[in-house]
Amino acid sequence: MPQDRPSIPAALIRAVKEEAGYACAIPACRMTPVEIAHIEPWAKVQEHTFDNLIALCPNHHARYDVENRIPRSSILSYKANLALLNGRYSTLERRLIEQAVGWPPNAEIPIHIGVRILISRFLDDGLLEEADDLQYRITGFEGGIKTTELYRFTEKGREFVRRWKDAEPLTD
Ligand SMILES: [Zn+2]
Repeated sequence: MPQDRPSIPAALIRAVKEEAGYACAIPACRMTPVEIAHIEPWAKVQEHTFDNLIALCPNHHARYDVENRIPRSSILSYKANLALLNGRYSTLERRLIEQAVGWPPNAEIPIHIGVRILISRFLDDGLLEEADDLQYRITGFEGGIKTTELYRFTEKGREFVRRWKDAEPLTD
């Protein structure tokens, strides 16, 4: 049987990279540049499909494909979580999740009130809450008008970030 492997179509590569925000799909990594990895190995599936491809940095690609040091179940969870994050949340919300991995529990996040809509799903889902008045009163005034509010992750929000980092499903 011929083992010729066709190259991955450019549009598919772009879609897979875009899904991961052009950074390694492993939440604790997020390095660039990225390569395209097959979740089930090419040798087994013999095809390139969106659902079986994920963007990984060269280091994690090697650890997964060559060294077998990352379980396939984890890679599948990262992939599933990417789909949820992209489908439901804004770019700002996704960036906040990435950044929050290394934050202390009560870290305050200044958000300009003009872009509040970009965190509306986090607020709807109870992942983020406004910090109290006393704390936001000291920042973000222009000409006497409050322009910035401080937010922080709720306990549910911190659990969400932890699940994302640890390759656990983000929905029950
Ligand atoms: Zn990586």
